[in-house]
Amino acid sequence: MVSIGIVGGGAAAVSLLRQLPNSDRLDVSVYADRPLGPGRAYCENADSAILNRQVFAMSVSDSWPDEFHDWVRAHAPEWLDEDEHSFVPRSLYGRYLTDSADTAASHFGERLGFVSGRVIDIAPRDRGWRLTVDSGDGVRAEAVHDVVVLALGSSPPADPYNLHGVASYTPDPYPTSGWIDDVAATQSAAVIGTGLSAVDVALAVRARGWRGHLTMVSRHGILPDARAIVSPLDFDPDISALIMRVTRKRGGLEWEDVLHIVDYLALGEGIRRSEVRAAFREISQPAAERLAEMAVATGSVDVAVQRLVIGIAQHYVNEIWAAMTRPARATFLSTTHAAFAALSNPLPAKSARRLGLMLSDGALSISAGVRDVDPGRTGFGIRFADGTRESVEHAVNATRTPAGAPSPAAASLVSSLLYRGLAQRNPYGGLRVDVGTNALLDASGQAVPGMYVIGEIASGDLYYISSMGKIRRRARSVARHIADESMTSNRSEATYV
Ligand SMILES: Cc1cc2nc3c(=O)[nH]c(=O)nc-3n(C[C@H](O)[C@H](O)[C@H](O)COP(=O)(O)OP(=O)(O)OC[C@H]3O[C@@H](n4cnc5c(N)ncnc54)[C@H](O)[C@@H]3O)c2cc1C
Repeated sequence: MVSIGIVGGGAAAVSLLRQLPNSDRLDVSVYADRPLGPGRAYCENADSAILNRQVFAMSVSDSWPDEFHDWVRAHAPEWLDEDEHSFVPRSLYGRYLTDSADTAASHFGERLGFVSGRVIDIAPRDRGWRLTVDSGDGVRAEAVHDVVVLALGSSPPADPYNLHGVASYTPDPYPTSGWIDDVAATQSAAVIGTGLSAVDVALAVRARGWRGHLTMVSRHGILPDARAIVSPLDFDPDISALIMRVTRKRGGLEWEDVLHIVDYLALGEGIRRSEVRAAFREISQPAAERLAEMAVATGSVDVAVQRLVIGIAQHYVNEIWAAMTRPARATFLSTTHAAFAALSNPLPAKSARRLGLMLSDGALSISAGVRDVDPGRTGFGIRFADGTRESVEHAVNATRTPAGAPSPAAASLVSSLLYRGLAQRNPYGGLRVDVGTNALLDASGQAVPGMYVIGEIASGDLYYISSMGKIRRRARSVARHIADESMTSNRSEATYV
């Protein structure tokens, strides 16, 4: 029997549970500080908060890719306005995750246990791992497992203007119910950030029928593209061989090599280099004008380039990133990352249309060049690079989450793993992992036996990991490694000590 401890109870944990073989050689315990399933992203109740991927992309199971589509057809068909291309509320996805966890529970029966609390320490014990769980009120318990999978999720946004604790400041846009009444009582509010979470804030105040003015502010004012319906790439060259050849010759991909790969892929799709460059330039411009046009007709910056970039994000980017030299990574991060993210994670077209309407009827403005947000006696003053200032009564923070940063729930555990030398911080994000197996790498760079990582905390070695498509693929790969382990080992059952 192999006993598995899964730490974290969000979408990644559910995906792993669903993809573990239903073998009587496996015994599983899930440790989570909230009910198994929705996590931070999908516990949002507001219907205005919709998924940023179509239903066809959201199954938790790689072997049943249409599962979520089938689930929506059975439980909420009224949301399938564009069949498998529909965008549905995130709360609905949360319900699907809960159902999916129930399915796993019925498959595993008594071999699946749920432990409520936070895992605060993991230490070696015999040939396995001893987990210390803080169940609240000072109650601590311990359990030993052969294999541990860390599925710790992502952290809330950073606090770039040090406003935490200031009245009329909302540090995290989720859940919307935490701030919507406060904003509804004002005439003016700001959302700090122009990413997908900032869009959720704008759509939530619109859905509420608020009559005040919302200003969306960020340093660059870059907003995601509007999603077009795109098919997978036709051209499927052997990029791995190309990367291997260059790496053997020069020790890694320089930035020029990366551009050549992108040009090669673009050419294979019949797209000129100048068209790719133009789309990247356009998406990097402050978005107000582009979005105002969406009120009339929704369109992406360039459908062909969006298709190319989504294809690269889905199939090639992690391999390219893994082979890039440090200078190449630095150039990518400083010149291209923001535009790449805006093109590869587009907004649902219906969200772009609603934002466009808000802009054209004056309910929303989008401003780039923010330098500081100062708390005043009644609200905030926002200072811009051109010397102008704007005052608002309330501010909602929707800045980006720092890549791979642990959430408050995961902080003690991550510190303990680092302290024990069981993990290594990644200079580009979370903890270092073996990109082939998702095994955690220890302080000396060796794979820790029987310890795996899935989700955002694995970012750094992997560039793009947080979409459900990426999570379920990685979860399946970890599930297979664990299944192999269950065939070869005969270790003890989990025991509380
Ligand atoms: C707002 C938002 C919207 C998103 N929308 C989409 C989308 O539309 N489509 C898409 O493909 N992807 C989307 N994503 C990305 C991704 O699908 C989600 O982030 C998803 O929830 C990730 O699942 P997870 O299990 O890794 O993390 P989470 O759902 O955050 O779950 C991790 C859980 O583990 C718990 N935990 C952490 N540490 C411990 C510990 N030490 N002990 C016990 N419990 C612990 C946490 O409290 C948390 O409940 C979105 C992400 C966000 C933030």
